[in-house]
Amino acid sequence: MKRLDLDDPYGAVALVEEANPPYSTTARDTTAISVLETDTEVPWGEGRLCFGSVEVTNQVVSFLRRKLITGEVLGETKLDLPARTLRTRAVWWTVTEDQLDAARVNPEQLGGALHAAEHASIGMLPLFATCDRWDIGGVSVPLHPDTLLPTVFVYDGHPGGAGFAERAFHTARQWLTATREAIASCECEAGCPSCIQSPKCGNGNDPLDKRAAVRLLTVLLREAPDDPVASDAPGPPDAPRPPAPPESPAAAERPGE
Ligand SMILES: [Zn+2]
Ligand SMILES: [Zn+2]
Repeated sequence: MKRLDLDDPYGAVALVEEANPPYSTTARDTTAISVLETDTEVPWGEGRLCFGSVEVTNQVVSFLRRKLITGEVLGETKLDLPARTLRTRAVWWTVTEDQLDAARVNPEQLGGALHAAEHASIGMLPLFATCDRWDIGGVSVPLHPDTLLPTVFVYDGHPGGAGFAERAFHTARQWLTATREAIASCECEAGCPSCIQSPKCGNGNDPLDKRAAVRLLTVLLREAPDDPVASDAPGPPDAPRPPAPPESPAAAERPGE
């Protein structure tokens, strides 16, 4: 890259030179999310399913260079880039200590179980909302400062929200049941791109725990209430569909997982 101008009045500009290096690069980033307001909260057994407003803060911290064929990491280059914030809408669910015990998910498995469930649920959401994976992002946290519990967030990648997280909230039982099925029925050993791996994970798809994710979702869904309205039509039945977002977010603004 020859030049990066983040302050250009027409949007950030990166000037790059075509090259054919024997490696590929992947960005690593950190994402923090804070709850601004909880609009709705539904008990799922001891756990909670929530919908509301959040602020997502994302910062690209480095990139990895990987060998083209094997993916072997050749090196990591630290970057000093400003954090970006996004105010949007999100759906999130929490589980309690007792639910973790019931799911036999121990503290070492917890991060991987939440992260795997988050990725898989983002992969499944396009079956329930008219979005694609790149329109939504996710964050999973073993102990979130706002909920004080293990929490998985799935948020709209567009400022203010585009209705995808809301749709997820209203079909949450079907959506997370389908997510559980997709992971459980995948024939891979420990996770693959068809189930729990994400092409846009900011943590290099690590940690991920496929089996613990299935156990956790099984326990979470055990006491999930029926979705309020069963409907095949996208969007809530009593409200017009939210307008389609004007365009896909630019690469630099793509929500992470
Ligand atoms: Zn798989
Ligand atoms: Zn991830």
